[in-house]
This record gives sequence, C-alpha cells and structure tokens, in this order.
Amino acid sequence: MPKNGAAHLASLQDDRCVFIDGKRVENVTTDPAFRGAVASACALYDYQAAPENIETMTFASPKTGARVNKSWMMPTSHAELVARRVSIERWSAQTCGMLGRSPDHVASTFVGFRMGLDVFGANDPKRAAALADYFDYIRDNDMFLSYVIVNPQADKAKSASGQPDKNLVASIVDEDAEGVTIRGAKMLATSGILANEIMVSGFQALQQGDEDYAFTVAMPLATRGLKLLSRRSYEGAATSTFDYPLSARFDENDAVVVFDDVKVPWERVFVYRDLKMAQAQWHQTRAHVMQNYQSMIRLTQKLHFLLGLARKIADLNNIITYPQVREQLGLIAAKVANMDALVIAMEAKGEQFGQYFVPDRSLLCTAQVVAQTTYPEIVEAIRLLSGGGMIMVPSSHLDFAADETADIIARTQRSPVAGSHDRVKLMKLAWDAVGSEFGSRHLQYEMFYSGAQFVTRGNSFRFFDWDNAKTRVDDFMASYDLDVENKLNVAAE
Ligand SMILES: Cc1cc2nc3c(=O)[nH]c(=O)nc-3n(C[C@H](O)[C@H](O)[C@H](O)COP(=O)(O)OP(=O)(O)OC[C@H]3O[C@@H](n4cnc5c(N)ncnc54)[C@H](O)[C@@H]3O)c2cc1C
Repeated sequence: MPKNGAAHLASLQDDRCVFIDGKRVENVTTDPAFRGAVASACALYDYQAAPENIETMTFASPKTGARVNKSWMMPTSHAELVARRVSIERWSAQTCGMLGRSPDHVASTFVGFRMGLDVFGANDPKRAAALADYFDYIRDNDMFLSYVIVNPQADKAKSASGQPDKNLVASIVDEDAEGVTIRGAKMLATSGILANEIMVSGFQALQQGDEDYAFTVAMPLATRGLKLLSRRSYEGAATSTFDYPLSARFDENDAVVVFDDVKVPWERVFVYRDLKMAQAQWHQTRAHVMQNYQSMIRLTQKLHFLLGLARKIADLNNIITYPQVREQLGLIAAKVANMDALVIAMEAKGEQFGQYFVPDRSLLCTAQVVAQTTYPEIVEAIRLLSGGGMIMVPSSHLDFAADETADIIARTQRSPVAGSHDRVKLMKLAWDAVGSEFGSRHLQYEMFYSGAQFVTRGNSFRFFDWDNAKTRVDDFMASYDLDVENKLNVAAE
C-alpha cells in the first residue's frame, strides 16, 4: 500500500526543533498552531492510498516496485507527463490549491536534478552518486521535503560573503571525513514544519569569494542544530473552522531556518563549494522547470476555486445580470483559462531532455511571469464584486448561538438565492481566501515564491527564442533596399 496519512503523522513525531511565540513546540502534530495543516498534509497521503486513487496518484518505483506518489515519476513521453500532471491536479484540488508546498513540489525539484545527473556527474562524480542514492531513498520512502534556497534579507547590495555578519547566510564552516558543517540561516521554509526532510541550497547569484555559500545539501528536519522559527500561526489565530475555513486547515506555515553548526554527511552533499554548479543545478538540469511546472499546475486549481468564489458572490447578491459584472467575470475567467492553456501548451511544446520528456522552458517562464500579475488581479476582482459583503458578517460563529444576535443575522444577512447562514458562510470563506491574514499571505506567496518579478522576467528574457524573432525582421528587411525602391520608382514613371 502507498504511504498513508497515519504513516506521515507518525513520521512527524520526532524531536524537530520548532519555535513559536517564544516557546519550543513539543509536538507539531498536536500543537494548535500546526495540527490543522498537519492533518491536511496527512489527508493527501490518505487520498493517494485510497484504493480508487492508487492508479491515478501513484506509480511503481522502478527500484522496489512499491507504489509511490507520481510526482517522483520521471516522464519519458508526453502521455506520462500528462498522467503525472493529473495526479498533481488531484492533490492540489484537495486543498483548493492552498498548500503551495505540498510534497509534490520539492519532489519535482529532485526529479529535475535527477534528470540532469550528467551535469552533476561531469562536475563531481561523488556528488552525483550521492544525489542518485538520495533520490532513490526519498522516492522509495515517499518523503515530504521542504526547501530553503533564498537568503535572509539584509544588505541586498552585498553578496552573501559581503554581509557584515559572515554567519548570517548559511555557509559551510567546516568539513572532515564524515561531512560538512553548516552555520547561518536561510530566509523561509514553507511547509518545513509538515515535512520529513529539508533541502538547503541557493538560487541567488553568487560571486567569487562566495564559495562557502555555494552548496546543496539535504537533511532530516530533526537534525541536531537545525531550528525553525515559525511566523505567526494563522491557524492558531483562527477562532473556528466556520469563521476561517482555509486558515484552520491549510496554513502550511513559513519559518526562518537556522543552522547552528549542523553536521551533514557526505552522502547528502550534492553541490560542494562550487559557484558554477550552484547555478547549473537549476538551469542545466530541469530542476527549475519541473518544480515550477508543479507550481503552475497547483495554481490552476487555486484559480478555479477563486473563480468559483467570484461567481458565487455575484449570484449571491444578484448582480450577475449586470453587463459590467459579466464583463468582469468574463475577464477573470479568461485569465484563469489562460493559465490552464499555458500548462497544456508547455506540455504540448515539451522537449526531450535526454531520455525524459519535459515541459517547454520558455512557456514555463511565460506562465510564471503571467501568474505573478494574474493572481493579484483575481484577488482584486473578488474584492470588487464583494463590496462590503465580506465585512458585514457577524464576528464569529458564536453570534449564531445567541438568540438576539442570531435574530439580527437572520434579519440582515439576506440574498435572493441563499439563507442567512449560507450567505455568511460564503462571505467568510471569501474573506479568508483574499482578505484575512491567511489570504494576504497567499497574495504575497503567489507574488514572490518563485522570485521577485525582476527574477522571473529575467528568466523569461533569458529563455525566449530571440533569434527566431530577430530573424523574421532580418528576413523582411532583406527583401528590399535602396536600389529596389529606386527600381519601383522607375517602373512607376
Ligand atoms: C510566503 C512566502 C513563502 C516562501 N517560501 C519559501 C520557501 O519555502 N523556500 C525558499 O527558499 N524561499 C521561500 N520564500 C522566499 C522567496 O523565494 C523570496 O521571497 C523571493 O525569492 C524574493 O526574494 P526576497 O524576498 O529576498 O525579495 P527581494 O529579492 O529582496 O525583492 C524585493 C524587492 O526588492 C527589489 N529588488 C531587490 N533586488 C533587486 C534587483 N537586483 N533589481 C531590481 N529590484 C530589486 C524589487 O522591488 C523586489 O520586488 C518565500 C517567500 C514568501 C513571501
């Protein structure tokens, strides 16, 4: 049987070091700050293990034959790529696309690394062998990984080694026959609290002198010296599931990660003090493509959910007959369909990468750029359609329990298509999606998780086929010149 929720729940009951509100968390699976998100992660594994889903959600490990999640699959054809995408869609739909870093995200990163094993091997065969073994290990144990690949913000005009505190950014500070020692911090691990292992690496550009910061390693969350400092828990602040239905279940958490002299064995070191590989691992393999392809598939599921909210709000207030409202909904529907189309297009225009079939890189970069503006536009549309409706809701579910306030709710929460209970329920859900602290964090997430706009637009510039575009202009300009013009003039005379 594939990994199920109970197995994942048990795996999180280790001595990982998580801090929140000044205290160390004893057990993330029961703590009110995290238990809802943990349950949602476990529900994903239960979904894949349900007999009716096993075929769609899992495949047989090429090494052990055991069924593991399909995100570990390395597709060799368009059909396999699409089958893998369907499993990602199904998982994302379980959480309305709200778990940005569900287990299939970093699994997809490692699939991309593994597809480019030759790139690692040409550089350092030992590190490549470690990567190949680790990939088998995490796939065959169907592990949930998080990653930290961005440095804490500080002086952005200086590189990692140029920061006044040399130990701010995680770096290799020592090594011996067993492995390396990491000291310093990384910006944020989303879902780290829900995961089994964490990959530590760097996506940002490095310079000569930054060699100690140029590494990729992985380790269990419960490694000694590894500490997570959680941001505020929106789940912990949620007064009830009725009032905060998304915060209560899908607050995947983000945490600053600190490495207090963490020892990492050589078997888990994949890039070692190597400026060239620190960049090549993303773009010469297909890691960047595969991880962000997963993100785009996940985003389509979230956008369809938000589109449903927008439409239901319009129906609720009976504004759906107004041409301006239909136009607004038509516009956002087109933007959502555009994201669907980009996913299908990057598969249809996919390329052979060695023996593997992968999505088209330029279209993936296009989708990332478009997504960063589409998401805020959809959020704004929901706010515009709702007006004050998301705010004129009662303070909490408790107002339904007291006769006097229940009566006020019944008299004031009106709609031609829904009762007062259903009206409040929908508006509270919409607020949690786009307005609450949880909803607001999602806006920030979708705008930044794949890099600031200058990064995603830079990648779009880098991978676009400019030769093709320029050749069209050159070919056309070659079809006429001064003498041709003269001839035409002569002919006209
Ligand atoms: C909710 C959330 C979850 C996240 N989860 C993860 C995670 O799980 N793992 C992980 O590794 N990272 C994670 N991140 C970090 C994310 O990858 C970074 O936020 C992102 O790469 C942008 O980097 P930054 O935050 O340092 O912003 P910056 O790079 O500092 O950009 C902020 C702004 O500064 C300006 N700016 C900065 N540099 C330049 C420049 N060179 N040229 C022009 N303008 C510039 C731009 O206006 C830019 O929008 C997460 C972030 C968020 C918000």
